[in-house]
Amino acid sequence: MSDCSETLRELETFLDNELDASQREAIREHLGGCMDCLQAFDFHAELRLVISQKCQQDEFPPGLLSKIELCFGEDFDGDGRIG
Ligand SMILES: [Zn+2]
Repeated sequence: MSDCSETLRELETFLDNELDASQREAIREHLGGCMDCLQAFDFHAELRLVISQKCQQDEFPPGLLSKIELCFGEDFDGDGRIG
């Protein structure tokens, strides 16, 4: 079983394709029924796409990554909506 905080914690690993089949299934199942996590997942997936494309084109701007991480911290932990 998986709850929101657990799903969000596994999100990066999921996107890296480093989870085993049952873990992936649990997350997919959770995303199917949880709009909050689905949106977070979409956002992360989209962001990865943008970053990977950007990295192929030119230098990744220094400082941007830490700004992104800052945003994630606020979004996921800021007001306690998730969890
Ligand atoms: Zn959730």
